Amino acid sequence: MSEAPNGTVVTADEAEARRRGLMLVLSSPSGAGKSTIARQLLEQEKPLIDLSISVTTRPRRTSEIDGVHYHFISQERFQHMRERDELLEWAEVHGNFYGTPRDPVEKALENGRDVLFDIDIQGTFQLYEKMRSDVVSIFILPPSIAEMKSRLHRRAEDTDEVILRRLETAVGEMRHWKDYDYVIVNEDLERAFNGARAILQAERLRRERSPAIGPFIEGMVKDLERELGQ
Ligand code: GDP
Ligand code: ADP
Ligand code: 5GP
Repeated sequence: MSEAPNGTVVTADEAEARRRGLMLVLSSPSGAGKSTIARQLLEQEKPLIDLSISVTTRPRRTSEIDGVHYHFISQERFQHMRERDELLEWAEVHGNFYGTPRDPVEKALENGRDVLFDIDIQGTFQLYEKMRSDVVSIFILPPSIAEMKSRLHRRAEDTDEVILRRLETAVGEMRHWKDYDYVIVNEDLERAFNGARAILQAERLRRERSPAIGPFIEGMVKDLERELGQ
């Protein structure tokens, strides 16, 4: 661990500890591989990043666990949370309601932890309005429409009717690619994942996210000046 040189008020570790967390938003048309990349980021970047677990009124898929992938809640409960301003953002997607519980996100950011969001374009815009400087957004695209369709069928989680609806939504979503900070085409999964991870790691080092980096550097400059007798 680094030690504060004489006269330095903030150490390198303290500067790191006082970093504000960032909000990493992943969006994509259904079937582009967003959930796969999100899962890998959560595994590889543990324990530096938490998933924002949305509430949803959508029925649970067989592979999903309540409280892990989503909090599956009733329409009434959703309405209640909305009215009490417990949601940072919310949207209706494919006929179901989805929302981001506010509390866990605010706490994480204050404690210097990053939060990963798997939310749609409407939610991304709401986060931009509320906290643009905390948000880093990545749009994930499939390499082709044929591949996107085949992934959706391979995943075998949704009926043909649901898949069709998701493809219709994809048209509107793909038009918004320019509203994202970064774009990744998920052809080779490992390359796509490495890209997402590189973005996260670089964004963590942004000067603006580290309120204590200034005092830390100023302290070192003063030490150096003192040593040099200036
Ligand atoms: P109750 O006390 O048993 O009625 O449970 P709650 O009212 O706390 O939550 C009901 C359901 O909504 C549970 O499935 C929770 O997991 C989920 N849930 C609702 N809202 C939130 C929220 O803001 N944050 C979290 N973490 N979970 C929520
Ligand atoms: P989304 O969350 O964007 O709807 P998923 O992450 O569930 O998409 O991915 C859809 C399907 O495609 C899954 O079965 C997943 O394993 C598969 N998949 C994801 N990325 C790739 C890739 N680069 N190459 C081949 N299959 C992939
Ligand atoms: P799925 O049903 O495939 O899990 O999610 C459908 C869509 O809803 C995806 O585009 C996903 O990103 C989006 N979504 C999931 N949770 C939220 C949320 O809390 N807020 C918003 N705005 N969108 C969400």
